Amino acid sequence: MLGLMQEWPLLCQRIIDHAAICHPDREVVTRSVEGPIHRTNYGQIRRRALKVAQRLDRDSIVLGDRVATLAWNTWRHLEIWYGIMGIGAVCHTINPRLFPEQIAWIINHARDRVIFADITFVPLLEKLAPQLEVIERFVILTDRSNMPVTSLRGAIAYEDWIDSVDGDFAWKLFDENTAAGLCYTSGTTGNPKGVLYSHRSNVLHSLMTAQADVLGLSCNDTVLPVVPLFHANSWGLAFHAPMVGSKIVFPGAKLDGASVYELLWDEKVTFTAGVPTVWLMLQQYMESNSLRLPALRDLTIGGAAPPPAMIEAFERMGICARQGWGMTEMGPVGSIGSLKPPFADLTGAEKIAQLSSQGFSPFLVEMKITDESGEKLPHDGKAYGRLKVRGPSVAKAYYGLNDEILDKEGYFDTGDVATIDEHAYMRITDRSKDVIKSGGEWISSIEVENAAIAHPSVQEAAAIAVSHPKWGERPLLIVQLNPNMETTRADILSFLEGKIAKWWMPDDVVMDSIPHTATGKIRKSELRERYRNHLLPSASVRPATVK
Ligand code: ADP
Repeated sequence: MLGLMQEWPLLCQRIIDHAAICHPDREVVTRSVEGPIHRTNYGQIRRRALKVAQRLDRDSIVLGDRVATLAWNTWRHLEIWYGIMGIGAVCHTINPRLFPEQIAWIINHARDRVIFADITFVPLLEKLAPQLEVIERFVILTDRSNMPVTSLRGAIAYEDWIDSVDGDFAWKLFDENTAAGLCYTSGTTGNPKGVLYSHRSNVLHSLMTAQADVLGLSCNDTVLPVVPLFHANSWGLAFHAPMVGSKIVFPGAKLDGASVYELLWDEKVTFTAGVPTVWLMLQQYMESNSLRLPALRDLTIGGAAPPPAMIEAFERMGICARQGWGMTEMGPVGSIGSLKPPFADLTGAEKIAQLSSQGFSPFLVEMKITDESGEKLPHDGKAYGRLKVRGPSVAKAYYGLNDEILDKEGYFDTGDVATIDEHAYMRITDRSKDVIKSGGEWISSIEVENAAIAHPSVQEAAAIAVSHPKWGERPLLIVQLNPNMETTRADILSFLEGKIAKWWMPDDVVMDSIPHTATGKIRKSELRERYRNHLLPSASVRPATVK
């Protein structure tokens, strides 16, 4: 017997409709790419999103067509986001930090018909234009007075483009499983892979993040998404904030410590989220200028493991920093490090230790850890294995690929290695491709790095595997020092003593610059290549010559 409730497809445009009905005057503030601060609200965002939809419809963009954005976090990007989805086209957010050849590759792979780009990216597109097989229209996100001179064929200023229609238009209706968004993972090896979100997965993900112990925003919050709309579906914030009527503050192109601090302070931001590299810049700026942010109640760090030293630094400044873990393939939120009753009253080092966990999964995400043969491992906080997930906002396949990516129970292998404890808190020890295997046992590179970053001279640290004649692999620690700081290999090693297991101690330490991926992670593949022939002091022969 079927239930007798209304069939009401879970469509993304209903979110902006709701925001415009219940929170029409709630502000959306942007540090515009052109410079000045721009203010609008949900009522106007919806009106202009409808114009985007109407103009795309007039340009014969239909259900399932892919439309790309190459843009910073701004109000215009939000309008386009809803305008594209509202006619059943697919909003393909492109990460401008990918290598140019990867950008061209994904535009062609997605077969994007239209691209919306910030003025910042016009020179890049001009260079790529001869390779872009399918783009019919370049819309530049500015007005006529700021429109650059460009060789891009038929390029038009966004404001002129939407002013050609009157906004007298209605969203299209379609099945909730229709594709809504396309986001390619940054792909450290091989080509990037496309994750295709549906309207249903986005709406459910947004309801999931709205749980109080997840992101839990309300209409009284002011949110600054440092995480770009092009990184992993904006961690759901472009849906969650309008769904509950939070004010949004978009940082545009400026993510340095001073610029982010200025917006956090001026707009009395209560919630913000981003990757550790951005928070490191904010932390340094606030510490060196003895600054505070009394309105900020929650700073969520995700995308890579934040060092406990960073969580502690924000705690000292009165800011609650907690972790989120997830993946593009998950919509993307998978767990949040909120403190449950047994831990809520912790203070000092115990609190920091608990906040250093990647947290527990919310309703709508199921997790397990398995050994290499797929057997489930216990949730005892000790056993570590491959972390696998399932749920209604987890991918079941990649766009345009036929590979089977789920196990027989429907779980997706995240590629992370983790423990889960009896309270359901999960801790990532490594990416499976980054683990250091010494004498058959795994060394957690994240824990070695976290211990090293607590050293006052160290800005960032990366532990990588280097081959070793006796142990197979041993850890090499690469550290990037804070500006104007000096230290020695011996000093770092003596600092680590007693903080990590003896056999996890790096065999060598080098000072070097640390490269990052397009999504702010340490690019370990490049470091492994750089140090492939590094001779560890403990190895008597050069590893490359070992038979
Ligand atoms: P991309 O694959 O494009 O770089 P994703 O954000 O999808 O971008 O990357 C997901 C991966 O990022 C996760 O599988 C995990 O390895 C890492 N990650 C995300 N959040 C955390 C976290 N809080 N701690 C440790 N690793 C994290």
